[in-house]
Amino acid sequence: MATVEERYQHLERTIRGYNISADFKKIREAFEYAEAHHGSQMRRDGTPYITHPLNVAQIVAEMRLDSESIQAALLHDCIEDTDSTYEDIAKRFGTTVADIVEGVTKLTRVHCTTMEEEQMENLRKMLFAMSRDIRVVLIKIADRLHNMRTMEYQTPEKQRKKAFETMEIYAPIAHRLGMQKVKWELEDLSLKYLDPVGYDEIIAALDAKSHEYTQFMDRIQGEIVNRLNELEISNTVYGRVKHPYSIYRKMYGQDKTFDQVYDLFAFRVLVNTVADCYNVLGAIHDLYKPVLGRFKDYIAMPKPNMYQSLHTTVIGDEGIPFEVQIRTFEMHAVAEYGVAAHWKYKQGIESDDKESSYEWIRKLLENQEDADAEDFIHSLKVDMFDDEVFVFTPRGDVTNLPAGATPIDFAYSIHSAIGNSMTGAKVNGRMVGFDYVLHNGDIVEILTSKSAKGPSRDWMNIAKSSEARSKIRQWFKKERRDENIANGRAAFESELKHAGIPMSAVVVPEILEKVLKPTSFNALDEMYAAIGYGGYTAQKAVHRFQVEIAAMQKAEKAAKAEAEKAARAAEKAQKPEPKRTRSEKGIIVEGLSNCLVKFAKCCTPVPGDEIIGFITRGYGVSVHRKDCPNASLEHQMEEPGRWITVSWGEDTNLSYSTALEVVCKDRNNLLVDISTAISVCKVGVANMNVRTTSDGFAIFYVTINVADKAQLDAVLTKLHNITDVIKVTRTAS
Ligand code: MN
Repeated sequence: MATVEERYQHLERTIRGYNISADFKKIREAFEYAEAHHGSQMRRDGTPYITHPLNVAQIVAEMRLDSESIQAALLHDCIEDTDSTYEDIAKRFGTTVADIVEGVTKLTRVHCTTMEEEQMENLRKMLFAMSRDIRVVLIKIADRLHNMRTMEYQTPEKQRKKAFETMEIYAPIAHRLGMQKVKWELEDLSLKYLDPVGYDEIIAALDAKSHEYTQFMDRIQGEIVNRLNELEISNTVYGRVKHPYSIYRKMYGQDKTFDQVYDLFAFRVLVNTVADCYNVLGAIHDLYKPVLGRFKDYIAMPKPNMYQSLHTTVIGDEGIPFEVQIRTFEMHAVAEYGVAAHWKYKQGIESDDKESSYEWIRKLLENQEDADAEDFIHSLKVDMFDDEVFVFTPRGDVTNLPAGATPIDFAYSIHSAIGNSMTGAKVNGRMVGFDYVLHNGDIVEILTSKSAKGPSRDWMNIAKSSEARSKIRQWFKKERRDENIANGRAAFESELKHAGIPMSAVVVPEILEKVLKPTSFNALDEMYAAIGYGGYTAQKAVHRFQVEIAAMQKAEKAAKAEAEKAARAAEKAQKPEPKRTRSEKGIIVEGLSNCLVKFAKCCTPVPGDEIIGFITRGYGVSVHRKDCPNASLEHQMEEPGRWITVSWGEDTNLSYSTALEVVCKDRNNLLVDISTAISVCKVGVANMNVRTTSDGFAIFYVTINVADKAQLDAVLTKLHNITDVIKVTRTAS
């Protein structure tokens, strides 16, 4: 086994191979610094820890990155695993190297814990967003590659977890950056741990046929080289069997056995010029029969990740199909090492100008029209234009918020009850103010209390997301009724004065009824409240009164003329008493007998609730709670004729189904505690669902059957007294 010094010498030789003017003094210093700081730490395979950073630096050198990247690769675990600090590294190696090391350290703390595709996409985006310098991502990929290569010494659980993460996060990133070789290796290594049986099966099949395959490939390679030499095209040709994961995907994706996989072989022809590429294509199609529809010209139309090549599939003498990829040496370097190689070609070797290192990304963005690349473009744009910020929940899930978002936005993005009961917030374990601006990669934890006073007015100015602001507005609408009424009344009265209408003209019962019909006695307050929270304007309200007052004055004149006639008619007619008829389900509908009744699903009223009826088009009267948003003043004003007074009958000895929402801090046994609390009240549960949020909260949706409001209130109290229950509300949406 090579000694540490031998490994270092190998690294230096690799760097000399592409960058003779690299800063070898600094690189040596970084190596010695890392070796000293990792000290006697060992890897699981029994080698000194320093072999890991050395190998990562080796991979980074094979990507042909600059001196600073090599130094950062050597130092990449120092902040995380030793007593070294950012400041110390900055002092010795400069802030660029220290920034890269710190960036890699942050990414090391990113783990994916979920299987959802959306989460994965967010995580990939976040990796980019966190890496203000693309070299951070490249070193992180090299780090992951070496860890995957040495994964056999880890526990099976860790193997699976890392393999999953690699397959979901790092291989796609390598692909997007155009690093085919790295991507393949990451995929194969992941597959080995994710499906060991499937992987072994393919390796065994490849081994069994390796002799046969080698003969076939040597023969084809010879034929191609001979023909190209005849044509005097200088070339490098080699063949390979496709990598195990790509065979695996074909087998499982198309439900085939190993022997049925169509194209196992690929040949690469590397030439000097683009013109030669097309000449080679002609020669290949002359030698072998091309398969229809398999020719792709990625030279004229490069892939979004800058990959360029000609692809064709042809069939040899034995009827064995194989793929041929034709490209220039430069295109090949980009295909192997992706943006890293491209970056080097375009940047020269010692560029440390951060701004211009973004230049190629901008170019890349402009050139991408492929819809498939949209996400990638977006992920880079996040970095470029800062319109989003990605933060972690304490469980390690990623949430995205608009840039400039605060803990308030984060809390309301989980649930309005979490925002409303928020008392404080921790970011990366430290208490912060509500106006703290979240950064990419922050771990955000929300502290809540049942006795929280609720949001304050200035939260509206602090919150960045419209979601949070609208939820805060909602809270004020509900919780600050008195304040809203006072504000609304003031606005209304001032507008009224402006219109020259005295208050005495408004509080005429007939007018009130016409304007507010068919609301209850405190209807005017409800209107004030609506004006107070901004759901209705004082101008609109005054206008309605104006119209009705004018109409009444007109009607009064007409009524006088008709008065006598009307009086006589009234004597004759036997005006029937408004009927109070018992209707079904314990509901009395004023003026209607035997009409169908149902309870609105949105608010599920129970006896004791103040209620109001709505004449539906198809099914009699639908009964809402008066405080249901669907029975709000606005709705009543829209269709005044269809709202009707209803009340509870005497004999409501039925059971009523009603829905509750219980917001809790998630923990074990919550379900048991909630069920127990309900059953102690002798109440039946009709239905219960739970949704857990990524921030460790659980929201239960419970439907129970109760006799009346008293019983329901008892249940609400019991539920609210359970530890970790933050809020219990009756559903009304
Ligand atoms: Mn590492």
